[in-house]
Amino acid sequence: MQVIRTIAEMQAQSRSWSRQGIAIGLVPTMGFLHEGHLSLVDIAKEKCGAVVASIFVNPMQFGPKEDFDNYPRDEARDLAMLEAHGTDVVFIPQTDEMYPKGFETRVELTRLPNHLCGLRREGHFRGVTTVVLKLLAAVQPDVAVFGDKDYQQILVIRRMVCDLNLSVEVIAGPTVREPDGLAMSSRNSYLSPEERRTAACVFQALQRARQMVNGGAVDPIMVRRSMTEAIEQNGAQVDYVAVVDPETLEELQIIKDRAHAAVAAFVGRTRLIDNLRLKG
Ligand code: AMP
Repeated sequence: MQVIRTIAEMQAQSRSWSRQGIAIGLVPTMGFLHEGHLSLVDIAKEKCGAVVASIFVNPMQFGPKEDFDNYPRDEARDLAMLEAHGTDVVFIPQTDEMYPKGFETRVELTRLPNHLCGLRREGHFRGVTTVVLKLLAAVQPDVAVFGDKDYQQILVIRRMVCDLNLSVEVIAGPTVREPDGLAMSSRNSYLSPEERRTAACVFQALQRARQMVNGGAVDPIMVRRSMTEAIEQNGAQVDYVAVVDPETLEELQIIKDRAHAAVAAFVGRTRLIDNLRLKG
């Protein structure tokens, strides 16, 4: 496994693979890896002859009061995990490699970010789309794999890829969970043992929503109320609970053919997100 830290070297490696007819799969991450990330590497490995994982904690997607400075980092551990899963190249650019002096371009969607996390994290998706486009330009992958865990992010990236005619196939990997249902996340490392127990309520809330819809519930207000209860009874705080159209992310007035639930909650000071298809 090779570690590459510059865009020029990354592009040269990808050109060499492409000349040999080897398909390239990219798994973008912010590091501090867990089984969720590695499941995406496995998907890329199945589809492609060469797998690149990137590790870049992207300052542009963090708000000024968010956890950029404290975001967990452990490069040596990440490299060992990626090597064990057959990764060919780990691309680890420094911030000034990605955003050199004079950098001023932004990539921004106009509709999808106006929902869910986009409303709570001003500028977050602008940071995501800008960095993902740059990673795609650096790695030139045939396939890029992202997690369903960040459901809005997947929709935003698919839209960007379509709108900008990027020649990459976007694949979504299912959310990998802990035994109690908590979605794996690098941010789970912030949780104290007590908060970790509380955090299971996020997925419980989503499951409760699905049970209600399976049982015939059609009123999103009732479903949201029940999700809020499941979270607040356990001592966590709701940032948002939403029942949305799975494609546009618009809030549903009534649950008919297709519905998706999304939650963001604070467990102590840690903000966790999760989502689940309710119907369709
Ligand atoms: P992050 O390092 O948190 O930016 O995540 C990198 C990629 O891993 C994103 O595409 C995430 O959606 C995905 N991911 C994060 N957590 C999980 C999980 N529990 N299961 C599957 N994919 C995940």
